[in-house]
Amino acid sequence: MSDLMTAAVYHGRGDIRVEPVPVPEPGPGDVLLRVAAVGVCGTDAGEWDHGPVQIPLERPHPATGHVGPMAIGHEFSGTVVAVGEGVDPSWIGRPVASCGAAPCGACGACDRGESNLCRRYAGIGLHRPGALAGFVATPAASCVPIEGLGISLDEAALAQPMAIAVHNVRRAGDVDGQLVLVLGTGAIGAFLVLALKAAGAIVLAADVSEERLGIAGEMGADELVRVAAGPGDAATLLAAVGERDLRVVFEVSGTAGGLATALEVAPTGARIVAVGIQRRPVEIDLGRATIREQSIIGTNALVREIDFPRAVELIASRPGGWTRIAPEVLPISDVVDGALRPMSEGRAPAIKTLVDPWAAERRPIRSAG
Ligand SMILES: [Zn+2]
Ligand SMILES: [Zn+2]
Repeated sequence: MSDLMTAAVYHGRGDIRVEPVPVPEPGPGDVLLRVAAVGVCGTDAGEWDHGPVQIPLERPHPATGHVGPMAIGHEFSGTVVAVGEGVDPSWIGRPVASCGAAPCGACGACDRGESNLCRRYAGIGLHRPGALAGFVATPAASCVPIEGLGISLDEAALAQPMAIAVHNVRRAGDVDGQLVLVLGTGAIGAFLVLALKAAGAIVLAADVSEERLGIAGEMGADELVRVAAGPGDAATLLAAVGERDLRVVFEVSGTAGGLATALEVAPTGARIVAVGIQRRPVEIDLGRATIREQSIIGTNALVREIDFPRAVELIASRPGGWTRIAPEVLPISDVVDGALRPMSEGRAPAIKTLVDPWAAERRPIRSAG
């Protein structure tokens, strides 16, 4: 390999440059991947549109020490081409999915199996160089080999957002046989529907978009509810639920109205999982939630040791493939105009946009075989 590679480097708000940078060295515990595919998500679009939010452009990151411009990309797959200190060389040559998490492994949160809440958490592509590049260094412990699973490296790059959905479901507790409502079936919502079905839930999926509802249906939603655009359409949802025992509401839209609607629709004793991140403080009637014994549950990222291997299984479990979720794979030169800009303007053409840093032009997603 040459010493330089092409990467999509974040230099600040609205300033991502596709430019040559040095190939990273795998550190202790790391593998070096030749990147196959990278998912672009709302977090990346947020950094581009109104960041830096997480990227340590001005001050060194407390865990990684990185400061300054940095390649982004945290949902990825690739083939191991080198290993760092302490990593078994038998990793070399293996195709893997990576969740891009680099927790410390030694703090209280890591000890109790909540590495997503690690005190010294670092994310690839957010706090140290990411995968929108020819090569990326990532912890071996964040990688799951995919040989023999019947999935392609393109599909393996969808395992990270699937793991977020697996984590969201786990935060809700047992959902087996329970009626649950998913408010908002965009990117995470679509993966969430599949993860909920796999956990045995009966899934009501609600969205303003007929097209997104169609995808939720393909992912296995039992019932689809089209709600009116604008501030919460609780009446339609309450009518759809009727007298049934709704136990969990997943608020995925992240809109202020979405959380209010979730609380209004959730009956007594229900759990409300706030998946979508509220951008500003909202006023909610906590007294009502108290008397109704409602639980409002936060959720953050994924636990690499638990949620990620399960997510890879779920990606492999879908017989129809992933063309409907991620139809196209873009070259890295298209990352701004083909992915970040349309996402931040809310007009992304697909549920998920993938990038192949080695591709010269757009191509369809590849399935295994
Ligand atoms: Zn993401
Ligand atoms: Zn930790």
